[in-house]
Amino acid sequence: MSKQSVEHHKVAIIGTGFSGLGMAIRLKQQGENDFIVFEKEGGVGGTWRVNHYPGCACDVPSHLYSFCFAPNPNWSRMFAPQPEIKKYLEYCADHYGVMPHVKLNNAVKSAHWDEQQQLWMVTDQQGKQYSANLLVAGAGGLSVPAYPNIPGLEKFEGKAFHSQDWDHNYDLHGKRVAVIGTGASAIQFVPEVQKQAAQLDLYQRTPPWILSKPDRAMNFAEKVLFKRFPKAQLALREKIYWTLESRVLGMLVNPRLMAIAKRWALNHIRNQISDPELRKKVTPDYTIGCKRILMSDNYYPALDQPNVDVITTGIREVTANSVITVDGEEREVDAIIYGTGFKATDPMPRGLFFGRNGTDIVDTWPEGPEAYKGTTVSGFPNFFILMGPNTGLGHNSMVYMIESQVNYVLSAIKYMEKKRIKQIDVAPSAQAEYNDRIQNKLQGSVWNSGGCQSWYLHPVSGKNVTLWPGFTWQFRQQTRRFDAGAYLFNGAQESMNTENTVKGTVGASA
Ligand code: NAP
Repeated sequence: MSKQSVEHHKVAIIGTGFSGLGMAIRLKQQGENDFIVFEKEGGVGGTWRVNHYPGCACDVPSHLYSFCFAPNPNWSRMFAPQPEIKKYLEYCADHYGVMPHVKLNNAVKSAHWDEQQQLWMVTDQQGKQYSANLLVAGAGGLSVPAYPNIPGLEKFEGKAFHSQDWDHNYDLHGKRVAVIGTGASAIQFVPEVQKQAAQLDLYQRTPPWILSKPDRAMNFAEKVLFKRFPKAQLALREKIYWTLESRVLGMLVNPRLMAIAKRWALNHIRNQISDPELRKKVTPDYTIGCKRILMSDNYYPALDQPNVDVITTGIREVTANSVITVDGEEREVDAIIYGTGFKATDPMPRGLFFGRNGTDIVDTWPEGPEAYKGTTVSGFPNFFILMGPNTGLGHNSMVYMIESQVNYVLSAIKYMEKKRIKQIDVAPSAQAEYNDRIQNKLQGSVWNSGGCQSWYLHPVSGKNVTLWPGFTWQFRQQTRRFDAGAYLFNGAQESMNTENTVKGTVGASA
């Protein structure tokens, strides 16, 4: 392809969820207009656009789960439903003027670092080429659906779809439906399926711990108050933040503190399920918090209905019209819905990002993804991952983490401009030391030692490559400013080690 046909931008961003949009808006707010945003879908919103299964809602209160610079006084509920969150993101994209930068229906096919030009060369699905000084991946950690590896799935002749690809044209009324999985998505759509299906067979491998969801409608007076006195909404945001933040004490500092939450969860089962057999089936045997703690007030009552069977025997195979469990029992079904989650420990597909010497990013991660401050990866200059490795949370709002990372990227860009640096690349030693500290900190956590198998842990290495092991304000502190001392510049180490923050970056007690 000729050089003239390559469209150049200073920054290329991938994705328009909270990450990509947050990055784009903050760039715009800083007066930067030379950026492009690639979006594979026909509209913005990321996960809040593509996940639209019935009952889909956020399980973090919306007054916190929103951009700090764009409070929404009109949230209809404490935990807004998906269409409202999608609308909020569409509003933000429009209001902050980033839509002219967004290329919809434009998936990135591959991105290669060109060492000679010190540019990222991006190719979209149509084969058009772009170049960019900096590349920001905001494609999300939970966007590649995971399907179970069950013999015979391909032979099934009924309707089958993943929760992320919900087919609303398929009428569930009167149908025999099998749902596989009982995670965060399933507990939201199962009550909706139960209302419609003639029979619902719920295949549960591991029961989740579930607490009551303190959801309620926001009343008119509250909305007026928040509109007139934004500080009142800010106070609510702070209150929610610190309440959620305190949960990390039990998850990380002393898992025994989780005993209180366990008592609440057991009471929740007792209060909502009358059948003793069912109670037993849904009671987990691992420490609460080891897997994501879920919240629902309509899941257990749905399971208690006569048209629902919770099946805890493993699935042996699927035939053209049935599911057979390992005990040989066969149940005929019209549809299978996969609530089996996402490839969280393998968030980037092979063949997408190529760094120095054409190395695929997947090949730099034999033991699972790792990055420096969850954002930069050695050998991938001028590349930033939002919601990257070990930035996930088991206790608070991801938007807070995303906004911390966006600050870090902006600070890096400013630094590069000020020092006239064309290329930054995190030093391998800085990345290694940072990740050693992260992994050490995770050792005693409930996520690693709570006696469960979860998507937090890499299936091969067993390393926890997804979660941030600390308070979120500690992550914010360490991403406040670009720390030049951890980086190589223009392909060589600079003697700028004045603010090497590699040491002591992972939480106060690290
Ligand atoms: P998930 O939490 O990973 O749950 C997947 C479920 O499928 C688990 O119950 C799992 O069982 C089961 N499963 C997987 N493979 C299976 C197999 N081969 N046979 C039987 N069961 C199988 O996925 P998710 O529910 O889609 O949620 C993923 C994440 O998305 C959440 O943790 C959360 O971070 C995010 N999410 C957030 C919200 C929100 O409100 N903010 C809502 C939905 C989702 P095991 O437990 O035994 O592995």
